Amino acid sequence: TKHLLARVAAHEHLGAFLCADTEHALTQAAAADARRAAGERGALLGVPLAHKDIFVTRDLPTTAGSKMLAGYQSPFDATVVQHLSGAGMVTIGKLNCDEFAMGSGNENSAFSAVKNPWDVTRVPGGSSGGSATAVAARLVPAATGTDTGGSIRQPASFTGITGIKPTYGRVSRYGMIAFASSLDQAGPMARSAEDCALLLGAMSGFDERDATSAQQPKTDFAAALTAPREGATAAQPLKGLRIGLPAEFFPQALAADVNGAVRAALAELEKLGATLVDVSLPRTELSIPVYYIIAPAEASSNLSRFDGVRYGHRAAQYDNLVDMYKKSRAEGFGDEVKRRIMIGTYVLSHGYYDAYYLQAQKLRRMIADDFQACFRQCDVIAGPVAPTVAWKLGDKTDDPVANYLADIFTLPASLAGLPGMSLPAGHGDAGLPVGLQLIGNYFQEGTLLHAAHAFQ
Ligand code: GLN
Repeated sequence: TKHLLARVAAHEHLGAFLCADTEHALTQAAAADARRAAGERGALLGVPLAHKDIFVTRDLPTTAGSKMLAGYQSPFDATVVQHLSGAGMVTIGKLNCDEFAMGSGNENSAFSAVKNPWDVTRVPGGSSGGSATAVAARLVPAATGTDTGGSIRQPASFTGITGIKPTYGRVSRYGMIAFASSLDQAGPMARSAEDCALLLGAMSGFDERDATSAQQPKTDFAAALTAPREGATAAQPLKGLRIGLPAEFFPQALAADVNGAVRAALAELEKLGATLVDVSLPRTELSIPVYYIIAPAEASSNLSRFDGVRYGHRAAQYDNLVDMYKKSRAEGFGDEVKRRIMIGTYVLSHGYYDAYYLQAQKLRRMIADDFQACFRQCDVIAGPVAPTVAWKLGDKTDDPVANYLADIFTLPASLAGLPGMSLPAGHGDAGLPVGLQLIGNYFQEGTLLHAAHAFQ
C-alpha cells in the first residue's frame, strides 16, 4: 500500500486520481494485516485498489467527475465498495472519469483529462479512463469501472488491460451515481482475466437495494477459469468453443492495425481449439442512434435530482427558487452533460416521444433478438472493441458525434444487457494497445473469462 501510494504521488501528471487518502488506506491495510494474522485467507485480502469516482464512498469524497458534486461526501458506501472492502481490499483513492460517465475519452471530466500511459499525448479512453490508466501504469493492481455503453471495455482496450462488463443485473447499482439506469453496470478492470474473475466474484450478487438486481447465486468465477470443457485437451483447452464473428464488426472503415491485431488474436484462439463461425448483427449501426436516444433520455431524468438543494454545488447568487435551480445547474454541469439533458428532454417530450424514444425502444428489443439468433450458431461473439487505437488528446473534443461513432462496437451488447469483455490482443500502429472484445449470452461471464484466461 505504501509503495503504491508513492507511485500514485509520483504519477500525478497522468491525472488518473481525483483523490488519494494515505491515512484511510493505511488504516484499511492494517485491518487487513490483522485479519491475516488471525488466520483469515483470501485472494483479495490486503490487495490495494481504487474506485471510479462514480461509486459513492463514506470515507472519501465523491464527484462523478463533475463540479456539481465538488465537496460532496456520501453518508454510505456503494454495495460494490462494501463488497470489495469486505473481502479485505484496501482503497487507495478515487479515480477520474468523464462527467457522470458521459464520454469516450475522459476529456469530459470537470477536473482534468487523463493521459494514456502508453503515449501521454493520447486519451486513455472513457469514461473509466482514470481506472484504465491507474491499472495500466501500475499505480494499482485493480480498479472498479462502470460501463453504460462501453466505458469499461473501450478504456481497457486503449490501455492494454483486461476489463469485463457483466450481464445487466449481475452487480448491484446501489450507490453508483446513475447515468442511464437501464444500461449502467459495474465491473472490474485489472491486468488479467484471472484478476477480473477474482474481483467479479467479490463484487457481484443479489442486492435487495437495487430493484434490477438479478437473483443469481454467488458465483466462483475463479473456478470457471480452469474448469475443463468437454472434449478439451491440454493443448486445445478451447476445443468445441464456437466463436461467432459478426460481419458488421469488421467493416471497411475498421482501422487496418486494429483489424490486424484482432485477426491475429482470433487465429490464436483457433489454435487453442476454438472454431470461428460467420454470424450477423444486422442492426449494429443502428445501435448508435438508439443508444444516443435512450441514454440521454434516462440521463435527463436521473440528473434532475441535482437541483442545488440536495447535493453539492449551489449558485452563490440568485433571485428566487427557480433562478437558484437554473443558476446552480448552469454552473455545475459541463457542456456534454447539458447536451445530453437537452437531447433527453427533447426525445421524451410530448409529440416527439413516439417518433424517437418509442422507436428506439423497439429497435433495442430487435438488437437484443439479433444476438439471440447469433447465439444459436455460436457460444461467444468476438470482434474489435473500438474502430481505432487511442486518439490524440483534443482530437475529438469539438466533435461530439465523432465520439459517439467510436462507440459502435460496444453499444450493441450494452443495449442487449449482455456481458462483454476486452482483453489485450496485441499492438497496432505506434505500438498502441488493441483490445479483443468477447460477448457472451446472459450470465455467461464464466465462458468469457475461461476463453480469455486460456488466451492469456
Ligand atoms: N461513450 C459512451 C457515452 O458517452 C458510453 C459511456 C459509458 O459507458 N459510461 O455515453
